[in-house]
Amino acid sequence: MSEAKAAKPIKKRKIKLDEALLAYRGVWVFIESERGHVHPVSWELMGQGRQLADQLGVELCGVVMGAPGHELDAHCNSTFHFGADRCYRIASPVLADYRNVPYTKALTDLVNTHKPEILLLGATTLGRDLAGSVATTLKTGLTADCTELAIDPEDRCLLSTRPTFGGSLLCTIVTLNYRPQMATVRHRVMPMPKLQPHSQPERTGLVIDFDPALIETDIVTKILEFIPDELSNKQHLPYAEIIVSGGKGLGKAENFKLVWDLAHLLGAEVGASRAAIHAGWIGADRQVGQTGKTVRPALYIAAGISGAIQHRVGMEGADCIIALNNDPNAPIFDFAHYAVVGDCNQTLPALTRAFGQYLGKNATDTNTAQEIAA
Ligand code: FAD
Repeated sequence: MSEAKAAKPIKKRKIKLDEALLAYRGVWVFIESERGHVHPVSWELMGQGRQLADQLGVELCGVVMGAPGHELDAHCNSTFHFGADRCYRIASPVLADYRNVPYTKALTDLVNTHKPEILLLGATTLGRDLAGSVATTLKTGLTADCTELAIDPEDRCLLSTRPTFGGSLLCTIVTLNYRPQMATVRHRVMPMPKLQPHSQPERTGLVIDFDPALIETDIVTKILEFIPDELSNKQHLPYAEIIVSGGKGLGKAENFKLVWDLAHLLGAEVGASRAAIHAGWIGADRQVGQTGKTVRPALYIAAGISGAIQHRVGMEGADCIIALNNDPNAPIFDFAHYAVVGDCNQTLPALTRAFGQYLGKNATDTNTAQEIAA
């Protein structure tokens, strides 16, 4: 009989930072703005950045970029309200609309000049594009789509945690020998920080202007026309206060109507598991989870959803989760706050009736057929 081998002790990692990189200090958050509007993920990151900076005993800085007149001063002031100590401002007409080349040059020049140890960006379409090119230009590490950020108290390293192996495991990634340590985080993963109360004197900080000497004729990409996303006003799943989601357990496309009915009654958004989307019961823009949207509502009602890890990572930040499932051992019951065991094609309408009675309203069928088609 062979003897079981003793597990090897995990070696403590060793950091070998070049002399030049030892000077890198401070936590930066890239404030993503388009046409004068800041993406809320930037403020969520300011809240997380403040905690990291406090743990490291360093400054938190915002990085505001755009064309002069695009509310840059207001954005700088907002960074202070959300906890920044200083704000770097890059104002250039070349930055009027997002283009990878000038934004990458501006941000990498700023990093090389002022040397932050941590740089955070939102995992938005813009943030993902910019973070990738900035990290490769700086030849540093980038962890994308993090779900948790922390500081190792022993060596000051940023611990960036994200799902891996199709979401079945969480891994923590460390950038040992390069700086800055970069990470992107999807919106709604971090909570929105509270603004300082009006009773307190307004928080201010230092604004530092930076000129990366951008020249329009050096940039081959030209913006010919700006066409706003026609869907942008349609549904705001990530910011919904109440979401009713349906999964494969609903059995067939027509039963998704029960989800819409409850959602209408509650004034909620409708979400879905990937299995329901793959079945063609609802549009892909409603998917909640690792490869869908991350949500953080006050109430999340999941009907016929198993609670697979890839779905869970997108919705477990909800304040209250009600799960409807006919299997008492379904994984979703491990983390739901309320469990309703039974056929969701019966428990969903029962819930709709009960809420309707409580709220003194009837479920309306308005737009249901059209929405099921979507
Ligand atoms: P099922 O797994 O089929 O579960 C159906 C549930 O309904 C079961 O728990 C069952 O007990 C219950 N049920 C059955 N009949 C009834 C009934 N009559 N009444 C009540 N309950 C009933 N999934 C996502 O949702 N979002 C993602 O972003 C996502 N990303 C992924 C990324 C990768 C890389 C991979 C590999 C997978 C991903 N998935 C994602 C898929 C995920 O692993 C699951 O397959 C999916 O979430 C399952 O959906 P479901 O719970 O609706 O279906």
